[in-house]
Amino acid sequence: CGIVGVLGRHEAAPILVEALKRLEYRGYDSAGIATINAGKLDRRRAVGKLVNLSDRLVHEPLAGKSGIGHTRWATHGEPNEKNAHPHRKGGVAVVHNGIIENFRELRTELAAEGITAETDTDTETVAMLVHHLLSTGLSPADAARAALGKLEGAFALAFLFDGEEDLMIAARKGSPLAIGHGDGQMYVGSDAIALAPLTDTITYLEEGDWAVITRAGAQIFDEDNRETARAPRKIRIDA
Ligand code: GLU
Repeated sequence: CGIVGVLGRHEAAPILVEALKRLEYRGYDSAGIATINAGKLDRRRAVGKLVNLSDRLVHEPLAGKSGIGHTRWATHGEPNEKNAHPHRKGGVAVVHNGIIENFRELRTELAAEGITAETDTDTETVAMLVHHLLSTGLSPADAARAALGKLEGAFALAFLFDGEEDLMIAARKGSPLAIGHGDGQMYVGSDAIALAPLTDTITYLEEGDWAVITRAGAQIFDEDNRETARAPRKIRIDA
């Protein structure tokens, strides 16, 4: 129900948890974060309040300066740890707001490729699909673009990839997503409020947009995959 992401210069986990707190007002049943440390994705998830996730992180910390986070409002699959985001398959992790309407068809197609689901969620199918496309030799950005072209439904998505500490891919269709610009750091959030303590410079993705984000900035593409300029705005929110 809420998405955050950071490509930062500081440890990502506390930044992600703090940003997720600012999205608590939307409601949620579970939460999780993933980071990349020494090139490897890892994640922690917990059912219930964010404090459960923070407690987990005290005992099992997650290092890394690149990360994504999620508060979930379950639509497909009961609220348990297995179904909590980030979802992961192979070298890709994803957080998602919304519903992938055609996940059953996609799941059947992927099963034929030997890629099987481990959770009850629509979201995991997105990770499975990108994983499959990566295994055909596509780059992360090309795999994400190809996957986005196959998804039906409403989504805001953020992806991280094993071995790619300076890359986050974000997409918006039917569910808002804001990109935040920092000083050599970049952020994503379901809304600008989530990012208010981090930056006041926000680019809102428009319907169908997707973005290739690095610490140097964001390259934004429209739904026809044409690179497009979206002017950042200065937002005033009391942090
Ligand atoms: N449909 C996804 C799920 O049930 C995402 C729900 C959300 O927006 O939090 O896991």
